[in-house]
Amino acid sequence: MRSSSSPVALDLDRVKERARGLRGDEPMPPINEGAVEQLARARRADGRIDLRSLELSVLPYALEGLGKEELRALHIYKHLWKQGVQNLSEIKTISRATLTALESRAAIEHLEPAGRIDSDDGTTKFLWRLHDGHHIESVLIPDEDRPGPNANRYTLCVSTQVGCAMACSFCLTGDMGLKRNLTPAEICNQALQVNAQMPAGRRLTNIVMMGMGEPLHNFDNLIVALRILLAEDGLNFSHRRITVSTVGLVPRLQQLAETLPVNIAVSLNASTEEQRLQVMPITKKYSLQALMDCCRALPIPSCKRITFEYVMMAGFNDTLDDAARVGELMRDVPAKINLIPYNENPDRSIRRPSPEVVAAFQGYLSDRGFNCTVRATRGIDVSAACGQLGKTVERMASRIPLAPAAPAPQEHA
Ligand code: SF4
Repeated sequence: MRSSSSPVALDLDRVKERARGLRGDEPMPPINEGAVEQLARARRADGRIDLRSLELSVLPYALEGLGKEELRALHIYKHLWKQGVQNLSEIKTISRATLTALESRAAIEHLEPAGRIDSDDGTTKFLWRLHDGHHIESVLIPDEDRPGPNANRYTLCVSTQVGCAMACSFCLTGDMGLKRNLTPAEICNQALQVNAQMPAGRRLTNIVMMGMGEPLHNFDNLIVALRILLAEDGLNFSHRRITVSTVGLVPRLQQLAETLPVNIAVSLNASTEEQRLQVMPITKKYSLQALMDCCRALPIPSCKRITFEYVMMAGFNDTLDDAARVGELMRDVPAKINLIPYNENPDRSIRRPSPEVVAAFQGYLSDRGFNCTVRATRGIDVSAACGQLGKTVERMASRIPLAPAAPAPQEHA
């Protein structure tokens, strides 16, 4: 079965040339298997196609028979992602007859805002209700150095699944199990709709796929979402500003690196096979050694590094022997190590190491030439920190008074 990382039938240049009238009445080439699959995945329960779950190169096939498909596709795509329209009827330049035909076969998905909580440190947690009643969360993190409305960098941590099947023992999202994959629209709409709520003159600058779910476990939808995030006529993020985090689904990791030049973060969290097996069941399928061998061979451009996230848990993986083994694992890998002192919560007995222990671990690796940083904890008072997403959704809805939900976007610059 062909995955959506395969080239689709139309390349973007062709769509744009045709939209500009450079290709006359030349018919579209026959649709290929990758595009057929993407259209099938974008089909909603009511039979209509969710246009926000399609790449621009596939969109013309959703419009087949309406005439000027590629011209219309580019026009609609820009309205979807640049203007943020929620209904086809908001695109005033479509004739009534075409609109009627289009509405019978296509629709535009958006997320229903279910609340937001602002942390004291400037972090904001967004809660979204999906069409089937599930909830997901996204976390907006302004600059560490300059939090608040004047930050220069705004990072959005987005979810890629409802729940997660990976069952990492330290993570609350893992307790939910996997409910379902998010569609490309549900992934990208988090960025679109948070962008629409940014302070005047501010925009999201970075996207990290580190929210609920394992992104590579939802691979086909992830690739479409990334192409929309990266597309000039889509959300237009630089590949340098998008990071995909994974527990290490080895074949998919390789496939991602070969398909798109986004940043990769690997959730490491242990210094030996046995230790990793205790907290990350995926190690049974893909060993630590297989993961590191894969990382060593990834086609990473010389200007980039793989980030290794290391959740530090007191008395478990925080000794200098652990630090030494982590250093060994990184041999010949273009690596950056990000230490994350565990975010304590009432559902786990895991403790956070003392600042001295964290500093000693970091110092050990830095002294040996590794790029090793400690991630500042953000959003802990609103359960938006790493490993705290997902299970708190129900708690948020029932216990914490949510700020009034902001309206979904009308206009997106
Ligand atoms: S850490 Fe990530 S991959 Fe592991 S259970 Fe949590 S959400 Fe899933």
